[in-house]
Amino acid sequence: MLPRRPPRPGQVGYLFIPPYRVQGLSVAGEETCVQIPELDVAFDIGMCPRIALSSPTIALSHAHMDHIGGLPYYFSQRHFHKMGMGRCVCPEPIAGPLRGMMQAWVPLEAQRTPHEIVGLAPGQQIQVKNNVFLRGVATSHTVPSLGYVLIERRTKLKEEFLDLPQTRLRELKQEGVEITRTIERVKRALNPALALDGIVLTMYDRRNNLSELVAADVRGFFKEKVFDTMIPRNVRVSEAPSHGMPVLLYDFRSIGAQAYVQLAAELLKREREREKAIAT
Ligand SMILES: [Zn+2]
Repeated sequence: MLPRRPPRPGQVGYLFIPPYRVQGLSVAGEETCVQIPELDVAFDIGMCPRIALSSPTIALSHAHMDHIGGLPYYFSQRHFHKMGMGRCVCPEPIAGPLRGMMQAWVPLEAQRTPHEIVGLAPGQQIQVKNNVFLRGVATSHTVPSLGYVLIERRTKLKEEFLDLPQTRLRELKQEGVEITRTIERVKRALNPALALDGIVLTMYDRRNNLSELVAADVRGFFKEKVFDTMIPRNVRVSEAPSHGMPVLLYDFRSIGAQAYVQLAAELLKREREREKAIAT
């Protein structure tokens, strides 16, 4: 019997949401890394896919291994390929332990890998690019965690000075008059074709009380936006991506695949009801 072909490694996905590219991969429990090349930042490093090396800043959401496993490798490869020192922005409470992790590599490699680790608290911000800042947002997880928004900051001449000649503006500035004001804008990529159809609860585990609580919470808050169908935690669903297949082709009979079929049926039913509501 021929040995089976080894599973295909996780492939990087790609979305173009003008003016940004969003690329990366996210398989729950395995690896998460999402990069926006135009903004010089990647969120989480996963196992450090090659594309992530081009981002000078990695913003970590939390330190579960599937989100940070590739961090020392990222620092090391950036240095090795002379791409400049890599920087990691992370929730404040884990900055110390992450520095400790990098310290542990020193005797193993008999050298010190240049790196920068910056802890960020909710509300604090740090520059990632000209005029572009990363601002921490409080999130909750079972370990210390942080969310991020990207903010663009620009200085604009105040309206009252708009008609003055350059020379006069320079004089005013020298006299210490505030002639500009700073405006902030949340960076967003608008895809007009994009709309929220609903929210799907995934990785649901009946035996786990927390799953029940989270589900009840989400339903309480988002109401009918939440689909009735829940996708259970199922090993066949997590295996499918490493075989490069959707779960429906990988194991149609598995409870995970069947849940997705049910979800599709629910989606179609909702769609039909919506159309009917519009028509009447
Ligand atoms: Zn996690």
